[in-house]
Amino acid sequence: MEYRKYLTTGAAVPARTARRWKRSAACSGSPRRKKVCVSAVTLSDPARMSCGPALDSHHPGPALDSLNPDPALVSFGPALNSHGPDPDPALDRHDPALVSCGPALNSHGPDPDPALDRHDPALVSCGPALNSHGPDPDPALDRHDPALVSCGPALNSHGPDPDPALDRHDPALVSCGPALNSHGPDPTRVPCDPALVSPDTDSALISTISVCEEPPLSFIPPVHQTSTNTSCAYGQVRQTATVEDTRKQHELLLLALKLKHGLTDEALEDTLKVVNVISQRHYVSSTKHHFYKTFDDLKRNIQFHYICEGCTISVNIEGEKVVCPNCQYSCRIADHMKQGHFFIVFPLESQLRNMMEQEELFSQLTRPNSAAHSSPLTDITDGELYKRVNRNIEGQSEHHVNLTLTFSCDGVPVFKKSSYSIWPLLYTVNELPPDLRAKQVMLAALWFGPSKPNCNTYLSPFVKECNQLLTHGFEWISVNGIHGRSKVFPLVAVCDSVARPMIQNFKQFNGEFGCSYCLQKGTVVEKGQGHVRVYPFESDTESRNHGSSLDFAREAIENRTTVKGVKGPSILSLIPSVDLIQGCVPDYMHACLLGVARSMTYMWVGSDNHENPWYVGRCIQVIDQKLHLIQPPSCVSRVPRSLRERNYWKAHEWYMWLFYYSIPVLKGILPECYLIHWTRFVKALALLLTESVTLQQIQEADIMLRRFVMEMGDLYGIQNMSYNVHLSLHLAQSVRNWGPLWAHSAFTFESYNHSLLKMIKSTQGVPLQIAKTFQLQKGLPLYAKKTLSNASSECISAFEDLVRPTHTQSAIRCKEVIALGGRHEKVRLEQDDYLALHNVANHIERELLVSYRDRAVINGEVTHSKRHSRERKRNSHVVVLTDNSIFSVDKFVVADLVSGEHCYAIGHYFETKRHSFFASLSNPHHFVAVGKKLGHLTAVPAAVIQRKCLFMNLPNLKVNYVFMFLNRNELTN
Ligand SMILES: [Zn+2]
Ligand SMILES: [Zn+2]
Repeated sequence: MEYRKYLTTGAAVPARTARRWKRSAACSGSPRRKKVCVSAVTLSDPARMSCGPALDSHHPGPALDSLNPDPALVSFGPALNSHGPDPDPALDRHDPALVSCGPALNSHGPDPDPALDRHDPALVSCGPALNSHGPDPDPALDRHDPALVSCGPALNSHGPDPDPALDRHDPALVSCGPALNSHGPDPTRVPCDPALVSPDTDSALISTISVCEEPPLSFIPPVHQTSTNTSCAYGQVRQTATVEDTRKQHELLLLALKLKHGLTDEALEDTLKVVNVISQRHYVSSTKHHFYKTFDDLKRNIQFHYICEGCTISVNIEGEKVVCPNCQYSCRIADHMKQGHFFIVFPLESQLRNMMEQEELFSQLTRPNSAAHSSPLTDITDGELYKRVNRNIEGQSEHHVNLTLTFSCDGVPVFKKSSYSIWPLLYTVNELPPDLRAKQVMLAALWFGPSKPNCNTYLSPFVKECNQLLTHGFEWISVNGIHGRSKVFPLVAVCDSVARPMIQNFKQFNGEFGCSYCLQKGTVVEKGQGHVRVYPFESDTESRNHGSSLDFAREAIENRTTVKGVKGPSILSLIPSVDLIQGCVPDYMHACLLGVARSMTYMWVGSDNHENPWYVGRCIQVIDQKLHLIQPPSCVSRVPRSLRERNYWKAHEWYMWLFYYSIPVLKGILPECYLIHWTRFVKALALLLTESVTLQQIQEADIMLRRFVMEMGDLYGIQNMSYNVHLSLHLAQSVRNWGPLWAHSAFTFESYNHSLLKMIKSTQGVPLQIAKTFQLQKGLPLYAKKTLSNASSECISAFEDLVRPTHTQSAIRCKEVIALGGRHEKVRLEQDDYLALHNVANHIERELLVSYRDRAVINGEVTHSKRHSRERKRNSHVVVLTDNSIFSVDKFVVADLVSGEHCYAIGHYFETKRHSFFASLSNPHHFVAVGKKLGHLTAVPAAVIQRKCLFMNLPNLKVNYVFMFLNRNELTN
């Protein structure tokens, strides 16, 4: 019972301790993070992976509830949201009157309030009042007069909401439509103006309304003039709604434009003005406030959670104040908000439902089958632990689709010269195929501040909702009308070695027993000026497991100490589907690319190692010269940079260095024993990163990695046996559990973090800016589907152009191949090309007219020909064909034959060679040695091109090398 005292929010910390922290926070000027422990009530069952019936016994309601934010807190969220959908500093200026009007707003907002249908005069009379504020970007709006604000939603729910209720309205209500609309951008505003400008009485209003009842046809966009064939009674409604529809459609285009190009709100407002000038009327909203009102529906679903600055735990809401249950701190909500002591939660349910309701995503969800154990692992769904969890949950059907999640939490610095970071809690749905998964990263929560979040506080809303969705699921209706339910099982947490122990509530790697996966204690040795903890190779270290970790956590709380590196219970252990050890994967991007590859490269060239046998810093110029000769294909984001710029290399550059450049470049420079040792590491990782990996290959990789770690100490000394090197020992197991390394790496999340950073346009209200743009982006597809249902084809194709990447201008579709670029006109075949083509298609005639093209899209990847030599530092024309031969494409030819248009690649085969870098060790499997190009010009159907490769011709190598890309999921073009 001792640890009960240490539950999250309640009596978490002894008041004495809290006071001490408060004092120290006051002295240091920075909030001290509290080591909060969560309920251990649920920690007892070691069999938690069997998520079926055991679930309930894991998380008794009250325990979970103790983690929850106060309901009052949650309900406050949307209210605030409807005030501040934009990163408006106005939020910070809110006075209490405004804040208190929040809930009122909220109750009008999301649901079509039946009260509206009663439509009493009082409500109607709000119209003109607002109206006079309406069309101009009146600063009065920003001052937030309570009276004004309280009118707002009433109007709003009439105006931009696609409320079907409008159609049911009786004539009295209908007639109010235009008046209300005139608040916004509706063109019908114009004829109403004279009367509307000063409507002092209700009768003036009514006469105004009657004028507006019949909007002149000239104000209805021509496209929709034909759409008035509904029954007479609803004729007027249809017309009004249609004008409104068109405005919404055009504003949707503008929103897509803004999101595509990351326009600031100022740029948006300028665009709105220009559009209105061009259309010669107030055609779209003239201010961002009105513009965003249209999209209010997309932005409602967020919650604000407030935290105590000193104790870092959730505070209670009491009236208009927040009160810390632990240290008695109390503050007005608005002031607390202004100080930034809050985080934003984006409920999973609405995001996941949104996904299920999008046909293109829903249809792609895999229904995992329990395939034979020995088949190769092609994705996370083939992993042993994935299958084990999947076996234990209810059977799948058309109406019951279980979803599992991979989530990630990492700090991202926001500004160059400040310690402020965002800590987005991101997640993906494992049942989506890898390419879609990367595009459908979702945001569960967002922390912004100068310090790291307290994980137990920050993750608690996520954990709570996950448990809700895991037990009860959520309902959805697919596009084709299927009513279904999904339960949600979080499985994998992807974090770096700093964040991982935070969510596990373990010690970090520099402490005793700092490994997340085994019970190696590590030793402290001298290195440079100081000391480091190292992990020398041990062949028989005991592994951690979920059950024993819970025991350690309990012991740690009871004895108020750390037990085998476990500081206390982790909030993740409250989710029954999460394995605290195997579920928190060692992410290879951080451990191997930014870890081992970087630190070993620094050792080789860092001048403080100049006395060591592995030091090659004197040859750095030669290395750089070789690097500059490498011409990667266009799918590689950067051409190689000098090793002197290694401080600025990104994870992708370390990736290219590790797998492709390092071995050929260092051959003949780095002493052979060191290069062979390094090659073992490269070979093993390359196996674990293939598109599909067999259990035998995992075993092979595991053996090589163990040897790599074992030899590390002998070759580089014990002081270089860093934790990242040690982590290599745990990689193979993570592949057995969850599929190839790319399926659960941080790359997906890392690149989404960049997208989040791009959403920040100013230093004010950073989390709110991100929240707004994120919601608009995610809500866009479904909103567009609704809004564009009766749009013109021009409008729809304009929208599609804005949201889809296009490389199809002037493309010719030839079966699965799309040819691009080059001259469009047909010309006679050149003599050599004719001979080459005649060999593959002997019915081709000498007189045939063809078009020569530069590029072709094959298997979704753009392949270039040698003719397309725009970029001198790139070589995108060497490809591997489906029969594994290597081919260099000189040009693409599109020929119109009897059987349709065919696209051929004309070029040269490469002669294949046998060449090994080392006598004692075979090359990594993705290295292919090739000789010269074979002399005669050859043609092959473009469809047999499998992939682009990286071609390397270095002076120190007797042969050329072609490198196959390890998988399709980590490099995109
Ligand atoms: Zn407190
Ligand atoms: Zn370990």
